[in-house]
Amino acid sequence: MIRINENYTKLKASYLFSDIAKRVSAFVAANPSKPVIRLGIGDVTEPLPAVCVEALHAATDEMAKRETFKGYGPEQGYAFLREAIAAHDYAARKCPIEADEIFVSDGSKCDCGNIQEIFGTDIRLAIPDPVYPVYLDTNVMAGRTGGNVDGRYTGITYLDSTPANGYVPAIPATAADLIYLCFPNNPTGAVATKAQLAAWVAYAKKNQAIILFDSAYEAYIRDPAIPHSIYEIDGARDVAIEFRSFSKTAGFTGTRCAYTVVPKSLKAFDAAGKEHSVHALWNRRHTTKFNGVAYPIQKAAAAIFTPEGQKQTRALTDFYLGNAKLIREAMGKLGLPCVGGDNAPYIWINTGRDSWEFFDLLLDKAQVVCTPGAGFGKCGEGHVRISAFNSRANVEAALTRIAAALK
Ligand SMILES: *Cc1c(COP(=O)(O)O)cnc(C)c1O
Repeated sequence: MIRINENYTKLKASYLFSDIAKRVSAFVAANPSKPVIRLGIGDVTEPLPAVCVEALHAATDEMAKRETFKGYGPEQGYAFLREAIAAHDYAARKCPIEADEIFVSDGSKCDCGNIQEIFGTDIRLAIPDPVYPVYLDTNVMAGRTGGNVDGRYTGITYLDSTPANGYVPAIPATAADLIYLCFPNNPTGAVATKAQLAAWVAYAKKNQAIILFDSAYEAYIRDPAIPHSIYEIDGARDVAIEFRSFSKTAGFTGTRCAYTVVPKSLKAFDAAGKEHSVHALWNRRHTTKFNGVAYPIQKAAAAIFTPEGQKQTRALTDFYLGNAKLIREAMGKLGLPCVGGDNAPYIWINTGRDSWEFFDLLLDKAQVVCTPGAGFGKCGEGHVRISAFNSRANVEAALTRIAAALK
């Protein structure tokens, strides 16, 4: 009799987005004349930058001719893209990262989810709360946790992000081997200072641990003092893996291109205490299970690094940040404390009441959809996330309605 991986039965069913959809469709059915505005989505709304579309067309034409046709490319990504990433995202910020330490992939979600399989099943994990669910669920699937008790898996050190710590979790008192961090954060929009990241690097060094740093939203940072990469911290090369994606940077959520940086100086240990290169392990895993990102997509991604591409992607993130600023100002006027929105496309609102109750209130009174924070973890209770990914007209209309509803 074929057996299942029973770790999957431990997974707490994520009802978040289906619950939202159910409540919204019930509301729409009962109120067909009231159009709903969705500020709950974590997906971009604006089209691809023109440079990317031109590069896609040109590369597609290359695929149509025998002389320029491409079959399988390098699993790690074409050199033209890896070199552009190394130059623009790392060398330009004085981060000591080489092109051959960059692994191009079809998404950070996959990379964040897959990375854990090169580490032992009995390692100690530290994971933020609230959190991007991928970090947690992939470790549950791999058997690194116990069951879910009162909304939390046993065997994990949760890193609480609360109003008290400004939504940047403190270094835990206990040791962990693998630490997940995400800044600018989804869902809170909070950012970490250089000093805060330096403390995490020191903690990882002390514990011979590894930090998994998700910087999917680095393109939204406007404060020049905030680091874009963990490698802006001295010594981070020896303790950190970084995930980046073109999804939120350049509207690639439906186009699919991202990358993971695994420095060659990063070490992990076997049961006998012998050192192993994490870069070699990830290279083995990546080349065994992945066959590269489509050539036209990599060309489209490389176009982001041209001067025109930099201008266009900046305009794109500026546009969403303009929405975010309007949302923050509106929440401020309503007296609702919030973080995010200044260096991130999300605004995290401390509602002072149950997060689903606030969700229902906004839906019923303003026909606006937000995301209840409780869906991202225990510490998300009492909060909602509002996303800046929308048209300006929708954001303005939604804010007018929210102001009227909460008056
Ligand atoms: C959107 C997002 C990503 C990017 O995922 P892709 O698979 O590259 O689209 C990664 N991390 C977080 C926290 C995100 O919100």
